[in-house]
Amino acid sequence: MPSPDDVRQNLFDRVRYVGAFPMAENEIAIATPVHSVTPPKKVPKPKSAADRKERISKIIAELDRIFPDATCALHHGNAWELLVATILSAQCTDERVNKVTPGLFAKYPTMEDLANASQEEVANDIRSTGFFNNKARSIIGAAKTILRKFGGKVPQNIEELLTVPGAARKTANVVLGTAFGITSGVVVDTHVARISQRLDLTKNDDPVNIERDLMKSIPQDRWILFSHQVIHFGRQICVARKPRCASCPLDPLCYAKDKTLA
Ligand code: SF4
Repeated sequence: MPSPDDVRQNLFDRVRYVGAFPMAENEIAIATPVHSVTPPKKVPKPKSAADRKERISKIIAELDRIFPDATCALHHGNAWELLVATILSAQCTDERVNKVTPGLFAKYPTMEDLANASQEEVANDIRSTGFFNNKARSIIGAAKTILRKFGGKVPQNIEELLTVPGAARKTANVVLGTAFGITSGVVVDTHVARISQRLDLTKNDDPVNIERDLMKSIPQDRWILFSHQVIHFGRQICVARKPRCASCPLDPLCYAKDKTLA
């Protein structure tokens, strides 16, 4: 039975946890009590393929519990807008992209409008997202390619989508998964890469090999949701510099060397 002081402290910690890290839109308050962190050496590493499978099932179950409805945070009305937003999101926050796209799509409502736009003007319209010259070139190139090769419809398979300027695997997986519900792969952004390494789901550094490892270990019908869940998890809990291990529901499964024990 916790003492009244314990209860008060727990409440304080919960409020501190939610209050200290303002949530972005679409993020969910995690009401997980703050606890002392299990040292990495005390967390058993899986010894067999069956152990690994069981551990991954537990990780997925926890992610389902805390982020049951995780989805893409980029605002969009159709697959084309999502493709443009995803191109803009490279090295930029989704929040910033969501501030830029309403004006961009109001000014250029159709794919044709962007195909015929001046690169300099588009670059200026998207300046605040960074790398604006490259992004403007990609967006205009994507519009021209989709109009010329695919009749103005965003392709619904990864082979064709990868031929569109600005659409590398991450972008293609976001568009296929979110706009069409097609499980073409696992989105590997900076959060998914970092957390896959911390959770020992991969030993690779490059996104292509990380994705290959995840596609082997995560059931295919989970690829789309898993990516979104891990991105939310990386923004709210397993953050880059100082992961919030004391509030992390995956602590009993995590033997990352850089767990924060304080
Ligand atoms: S926050 Fe990250 S590093 Fe810390 S316990 Fe959770 S998964 Fe492991």
